[in-house]
Amino acid sequence: MFWADRVATDLKKRKLHLEWVDDMKTPSGKIHVGALRGVVIHDLVYKALLSKSVKAKYTYVFDDHDPMDALPVYLPSEKFEKYLGMPLYKIPSPVSGFKSYAEYYAQEFTDVFRAIGCSPEILWASDLYLSGKMNSLIKECLDKAGIIRDIYEELYKKKLPKDWFPFQVFCPNCGKQSTTRVFNWDGKKVSFACEVDKVKWTKGCGFKGEVSPFSNKEGIVGKLPWKVEWPCKWKAIGVTVEGAGKDHMSSGGSHDLASLVCKRVLNYPVPYPLGYEFFLVGGKKMSSSKGLGSSSSEMLEILPPELLRFLMVKTKINQAINFDPSGDTIPKLFDEYQKAADANINKTNEDLARVFELSQIDKVKKTPSIRFSILSQWVQMPNMEEQIKKEGLTEWVKYAKVWIEKFAPDRMKFSVQKNIPEQAKNLTEIQKRYLIRVVSELDEKWNPDEFQKELYNWAKEVGISSNEGFQALYISLLGKDYGPKAGWLILKEDLDFIKKRFKEVAAQKAEDIEDNIQAKDAITELNKQKIFSIDQKLKEKFPSISIGIAIIKGVDIKKSDSTLEKDKQGLLKSLEGLTTEELGRYPEIQSCRKLYKETGIDWHSRRPSPEALLRRIALNKSLYTINTCVDAYNLIVMKHRVSIGAFDLDKIEFPTVLRFAKNVEDILLLGDDKPTKYKDGEIAYFDKKGGYNIDFNYRDAQRTAVQLNTKNLYINVDGVYDITPSQVEKSLTEACDVIIKYCGGKLGLLGVQTT
Ligand SMILES: [Zn+2]
Repeated sequence: MFWADRVATDLKKRKLHLEWVDDMKTPSGKIHVGALRGVVIHDLVYKALLSKSVKAKYTYVFDDHDPMDALPVYLPSEKFEKYLGMPLYKIPSPVSGFKSYAEYYAQEFTDVFRAIGCSPEILWASDLYLSGKMNSLIKECLDKAGIIRDIYEELYKKKLPKDWFPFQVFCPNCGKQSTTRVFNWDGKKVSFACEVDKVKWTKGCGFKGEVSPFSNKEGIVGKLPWKVEWPCKWKAIGVTVEGAGKDHMSSGGSHDLASLVCKRVLNYPVPYPLGYEFFLVGGKKMSSSKGLGSSSSEMLEILPPELLRFLMVKTKINQAINFDPSGDTIPKLFDEYQKAADANINKTNEDLARVFELSQIDKVKKTPSIRFSILSQWVQMPNMEEQIKKEGLTEWVKYAKVWIEKFAPDRMKFSVQKNIPEQAKNLTEIQKRYLIRVVSELDEKWNPDEFQKELYNWAKEVGISSNEGFQALYISLLGKDYGPKAGWLILKEDLDFIKKRFKEVAAQKAEDIEDNIQAKDAITELNKQKIFSIDQKLKEKFPSISIGIAIIKGVDIKKSDSTLEKDKQGLLKSLEGLTTEELGRYPEIQSCRKLYKETGIDWHSRRPSPEALLRRIALNKSLYTINTCVDAYNLIVMKHRVSIGAFDLDKIEFPTVLRFAKNVEDILLLGDDKPTKYKDGEIAYFDKKGGYNIDFNYRDAQRTAVQLNTKNLYINVDGVYDITPSQVEKSLTEACDVIIKYCGGKLGLLGVQTT
C-alpha cells in the first residue's frame, strides 16, 4: 500500500472529528526545493485522508514574523542590510506589488506548490499574533519558563541562565528582534534590552524597557523562539498532523523539544509526526553558471509540474531525493513517469498506478507515449512541430529544450553542421555511393516513415550494411556516427541543402583511405597469362599501366530497366552544374588525354569514353540507353572517370593481350559497316582473332559486342598515370557489382594486371 494511504488508515482509527494537516516555512528568501517535499508529503496525507472519507483540512503557515538573519546573495546589500534582525513582514518587498518581503517570497513558493497540485489554506504567523490567539500560550510559556529551561537543559545538556525567558521583543526603538533579550517576567510585563552585540551580523540599539508581551491588532510586541512557538502554533491552530524534514525530526532535534513543550507546558497532544528525508538538488551542476539554481520556482523551469510532483510522490518518505539534473536523470524520470502512466491505464502495478494517480495535478492527463529522449531529438530538428503536436508532446517541448541546452550530455546534442564535418572525409566509397543513391531519390514526395524504410532498402541495393549507410548520413550532416531517426532528420531539412551536402561529401577525396588501398597487397593480382597479359613493349613504354579484368557468367541483359534509369537520373543530378572545363581538370581525364597524346591520337577527335560521357552531361545532353549491362557500368565510368569495356566472353578466343597495334591490322567497329585501320602505336586489346577494341576502350568491335543475348561477360578497366591500380580495382569491383545488380550473373574472376 502507498505510504500515505497507510498513514491515513492509521489516522482513521483514532476517529478525530477533524484531522488538521499543517506545514510551515519561513519565507526568508527564495525557498529551496527541499521545502517543497514537505508540502507534497503533507498534501499526500491530506488527500489520502479525504479518499478514506476522513474529514480533513490542510493549512500552510508562513512564518513571516521571523527575523531576517542573513542577506540573500541575489539582493543588493546596500538596500537590505539595514533590515537585518527585523521581522520579515516589516521589510519591504524586493519587487513592487507585494505588501512585504515575506509576502513576496511566500507568493513565489505558493505559486510553485499550487502549480504542482497542492492547495493548502495559507496562514500567516503574524496574523496568529495579531489576532491575539497566541497570547494565552505566550503567558503559559512565560509562566512556565523554568520548565522550558529544564527541557532545553535535558535535550542540549546546557544550562540556561535563570534570567532566560522564551520570548523576544521587537525593539520599539530600532525595530529589530534578533538583538533583544528578555531578562524578566513579572506576570504582566517583560523586561528587555536591545543589546548592541547580541549577534555578530547586526547591531542592537541599546534600548531598555518593559512591555506587555501580548499582541493585539495594533501590532506585534514580540514572539516566542521558534522551537517553543512551533508547539504553541499547533495548539493555537488545532493541528493534528505535522511533520518536518529529518533535521528537525532527529533525536534531540527541534521536534523533540516541541513535543516536550506540548506535554509539559501546553498539555496538547503532539500532532501525528511525518519525518521525511531531504530533497537535494545536484548543487554544483545547478550552479548559477547554468542559469538555474535549486529554488523551487527554478525547478519548474526544468520539469513540468506533474513530473516534479511525480519525483516526490514516487520516492519513499524515508528516502532522500538527490536530484542531479545533468546527464540522463531527466529523460529517465520521464521514462519512469510514462511507465507509471502505463501501470495506471493497464492496472498492472497497483502501487505504481497509485503513484501516478497521486502525481496528477488536477485531473489525469493523457500521457504521451513518445520517449523524452526522442522528443529531445525532435526539438533539435527543424519543422517537427506537426509531429510533436500529433504525439501530444507540445507541453513537454520547452523542458526538452532546456534539458538539451543545459544538462544533456554531448552525445544527445545534434545539430546539422553548417560546413562538411571533418569526419566525412573518412567515409568509404560505398558509403559515398549510398549518399548519392539517397540524393537520387530526394526529388520524390516522401512521407518520413516510408522514406526511413527505403533508406534501409537503398543500403541493401548498394551493398552496404544499414549501419554503415546510416553512419554515412549522420556523419555527413551531424559529424557524429549516430543521430535521430535518419528519415526524419533528412526530410525535415531543406532538401537542396541535403543534396548539396551529400554530393559534396561523396566528391571528397578520402586521402587516408586512398593511401591504404594503394598498398600493393590490397590489389588482387591477376597473373593469368592464359587469359590476359600486357605486352612487354607496352610495359616498357608505359610502366604505369594497369588493367583490371573480370568475368561474369550467366547474365540476363535487358534493353532497359526503370530503377537503372532512376539511378542514371540520380547520377545526372549529382553531377549537375559540371562544366567542360571542370571535367578537363580531373586527373583521370588528363591521364587519358596524355596517353592518347603519347600514342599519337588527337583527344579532341577521339574522346576517351569517360570524357565522352561526362561531356554529354556538361553539355546537358541526355545519356544513351544501350542495354542494362552497358548502361550500368557507364555509371561507374562517369563516377570514377575511368574507361571500362565489357565484351561477350563467348565471342573471345583466349588468350587476350594489350599491345601496340600495327598499321596492317584493322577492326570492324560497332555501328560501322567498313573496318577501320589501326595506326602504328595505338593501344588496343587483341584476342586470337584480332583487335576487339581501339584506344583503351574508345570504341569496341562488332564481333565481341555485348548484345541482349549475351550470357557471359569479359570486362576490362584501363588504368594509366593517375589512374592507379587500386582505382582500377575499385572501379572494376563496382562495375561488376552494378552489372550483377541489373543483369544478374555470377562473378567468375576479378583481378588487376600491373606491369
Ligand atoms: Zn533596538
